[in-house]
Amino acid sequence: MTAQILVVDDVAANVKVIEAKLASEYYDVITAKDGFEAIEQARSRKPDLILLDIMMPGMDGFETCRRLKEDPEVSHIPIVMVTALSEKSDRLKGLEAGADDFLTKPINDMALFARVRSLVRIKMLLDEVRLRDKTSMQLGMEPTTNAFISDVTGAHVLLIDDDRVQGKQIMAKLGETCKVEWLEDPEQALARAKDGQFDAILISTFLTDADGLRLASQIKSQEETRNVPLLVFVDEDDNRLMLKALEMGINDYLTVPVDRNEMIARVRTQVRRKRYQEALKSQYQKSLSMAVTDGLTGLYNRHYLNTHLTNMVRESLKNSKHLALMMMDMDHFKSVNDTYGHDAGDAVLKQLAQIITKAARSTDLPARFGGEEFVILMPETDPQAALGAANRMRELVAATPFEIKDGASIKRTVSIGVASLRPDSDSAEGLLKRADEALYSAKDAGRNLVKMAPNPVPKGW
Ligand code: GH3
Ligand code: MG
Ligand code: MG
Repeated sequence: MTAQILVVDDVAANVKVIEAKLASEYYDVITAKDGFEAIEQARSRKPDLILLDIMMPGMDGFETCRRLKEDPEVSHIPIVMVTALSEKSDRLKGLEAGADDFLTKPINDMALFARVRSLVRIKMLLDEVRLRDKTSMQLGMEPTTNAFISDVTGAHVLLIDDDRVQGKQIMAKLGETCKVEWLEDPEQALARAKDGQFDAILISTFLTDADGLRLASQIKSQEETRNVPLLVFVDEDDNRLMLKALEMGINDYLTVPVDRNEMIARVRTQVRRKRYQEALKSQYQKSLSMAVTDGLTGLYNRHYLNTHLTNMVRESLKNSKHLALMMMDMDHFKSVNDTYGHDAGDAVLKQLAQIITKAARSTDLPARFGGEEFVILMPETDPQAALGAANRMRELVAATPFEIKDGASIKRTVSIGVASLRPDSDSAEGLLKRADEALYSAKDAGRNLVKMAPNPVPKGW
């Protein structure tokens, strides 16, 4: 049970091929043979992504897409339209119908996985933003303004390309919807990227005097630009370069010559992703003044955690999603207070909170549970991944020196209990209780350890 994808096509053989490809990457696939069935499935199953064929009898893909995007219950589910290579005008129609991206038949595996991965990740961020809005409202806070996120007109984009002809074409195609700044010199672009506050950066891999991927990795490694989405232009046949780019963490690629509508769709997707991440941060900023954060560490407090966890457990059970939770406790923390004083203890707790925050993904929710105990909620995380995350966190804490005073530092460790949601029936209390029991077994077994709560899960999860 990972991301669920709805494949819609009237030709059974097409469905079978895509289903097999997606299943090999552990996606959960559901299918529909026409537009009516697709709408029905989308409403009842709430998939994470829809792959929609255009040519279908009865209701075509455009109409299906339009109806899905008009229905507030399902309009947030990303739709990838599957078009024939020859029909470029289909993409414009698809974009107008609200499609999020396009794939061309016959479907190239790399393109399929890149689209699916990128859109599923965004859907996950969006789900988290929506759920936190719900929690915020229950606690009397303002929700996020979603309009700002979906309409990305005027997004600030940096184009790095030294090919005048190509650059002009891209400016013309993207300039209609975005504010594009075009630089030819990589050095100058690198500096500009730092202070430009861009929503996305597009980089050519055909630069004469520089390696586009190298430039991308430099941008990724700069603190100021770490979270700016990067897209690269690559040659249509250069699968090797596409793969390398994606493995390096570049967010997406566009093949040249660039299709206008595909480019608009991809840039829009990436800008949305960035804005959802920012929305999560601003939700947190808003909560600072609302008595739902902890004064010492700045993390969410137990009150917020309890409210959000209850919502999250309900949503996860309803949508058959994974949910994992770690409960972390510092080992022999009392001795820090006893040896170095209470202030040093406070300083250590603050630093531990910083380590946790830095190591967590943007959809994870870290909270201070009490004294020197922390809880990290991990939505859509399977038990194996949760165990991996907990061990990375444990190792990171053990390797990081804590400053206590006057430059002196000490090493500390943590014990962690991990529990994951039981798909049949479970509750916030049950999940916390099992994580707590696992934590105590980690303490019993010698500390600086991660233990997983026993959780017999049915097959297929
Ligand atoms: P163990 O490895 O079994 O977890 O041992 P421990 O010493 O970490 O656990 P114990 O529960 O015995 O002690 C926790 C201590 O944490 C006791 C309490 O005074 C201290 N503590 C709780 N909250 C704070 C805080 O906000 N600041 C400081 N400085 N200390 C705190
Ligand atoms: Mg068809
Ligand atoms: Mg402790």
